[in-house]
Amino acid sequence: MDYPKSKELYERASKVIPGGVNSPVRAFNSVGGTPLFITRAQGSYLWDEEGNRYIDLISSWGPMLLGHAEPDVIKAVQQTAENSTSFGAPTRLEVEMAELITSSVPGVDKIRMVNSGTEATMSAIRVARGYTGKNKIIKFKGNYHGHGDSFLIEAGSGALTMGEPSSPGVTEGTAKDTLNAEYNNLDSVKKLVEANKDDMAAIILEPIAGNMGCIPPNEGFLEGLRALCDEHNIVLIFDEVMTGFRVDFQGAQKVYGVTADMVTYGKIIGAGLPVGAYGGKEEIMDYVAPTGPVYQAGTLSGNPLAMAAGFTLLKKLKDHPEVYDELEKKSQVLATGITKILEEYDIPHAMNRVGSMIGVFYCEGPVETFDDANRTDKELFGKIFHGMLKRGVHLPPSPFEAFFLANSLTTDDLSFILTAFEETISEIK
Ligand code: PLP
Repeated sequence: MDYPKSKELYERASKVIPGGVNSPVRAFNSVGGTPLFITRAQGSYLWDEEGNRYIDLISSWGPMLLGHAEPDVIKAVQQTAENSTSFGAPTRLEVEMAELITSSVPGVDKIRMVNSGTEATMSAIRVARGYTGKNKIIKFKGNYHGHGDSFLIEAGSGALTMGEPSSPGVTEGTAKDTLNAEYNNLDSVKKLVEANKDDMAAIILEPIAGNMGCIPPNEGFLEGLRALCDEHNIVLIFDEVMTGFRVDFQGAQKVYGVTADMVTYGKIIGAGLPVGAYGGKEEIMDYVAPTGPVYQAGTLSGNPLAMAAGFTLLKKLKDHPEVYDELEKKSQVLATGITKILEEYDIPHAMNRVGSMIGVFYCEGPVETFDDANRTDKELFGKIFHGMLKRGVHLPPSPFEAFFLANSLTTDDLSFILTAFEETISEIK
């Protein structure tokens, strides 16, 4: 297919925006071709500049759990905007948002709003360092926590897609304080803790890895990390930017029954507006200024439009827990359907899924670690991506990103996706 309007915009964009995009994975670098420029979205559908419609399996990389332009969210934003877009002073909505989250999520006694997931994770490790008086952190190969310097060491998501596990511009000093362990390998963490135990401030991870496809924690992994942190006075941080309010209203903490010391959020809590948050135990969060000595601030933090959108979505999810059951059923239909087609066509694959996060790997399973994920057939993924796109399904444009399902997907949409998948595979084979 030809996309003349998107092509023209991409050419213009490439002259004035690095790589033509404001976030690398959008440039289609790992799948080739021209990124589609989107004009509008409704429910589970996106429309591009040419007017083509696509079923959206990106959901803006997670936030759109109920689909795009959710009427109550849009109304709340419109009504709030009439009273101005920012005050730089506290508002009732911020209190209600914090109350809603702290009263719902285990281990989150206090929470601070920021403007992105990146800010949330950067702030969380600063607080963990301030609280423990220690410097080093452990993260996991292939996990992604945004583009804060400390996290760009063997990171997942766009950094993985781009084949740039580390980034120039990150100083050696910063890199020295970030230690990388193997996801789902407790021994690799124990060794690092043992060798650095007097200076280990935090262990941060995606409790369900979603930035190297979707990789759930093996049995005992999160429990083992919890025990290790308790033993050595290390702050356990769950980065639930992706999983928070998606895999369950109480996130991965609820699904796996393990409570972290600190949790970071983003995506769904802003319903598509720029929001992040970090929270945790009161004694840790009281280290944050102005109560405590760890500085963190934001001109637009707790922005009224973002709070109105996020609060409306979270309240709706809390009042309608059946959404999670519905999403589970839809995700199961899609995952089972894809698996069946791959089996029929004899294509090696591993299907990983937790709720509405799906990771399809085009290699023999199981896929439990970063090295496993890296075995996926990237060339085949590129072909599948374009086959689906021309048939009207927009997959995430990277072999290392999970599909995010929205509850606006209908039975017909799911059938449409599966038909497109079967046609694509039969065309490739
Ligand atoms: N943490 C996780 C688990 C993420 O998936 C992301 C983004 O994809 C981030 C942090 C960074 O969030 P943001 O892109 O809002 O800065």
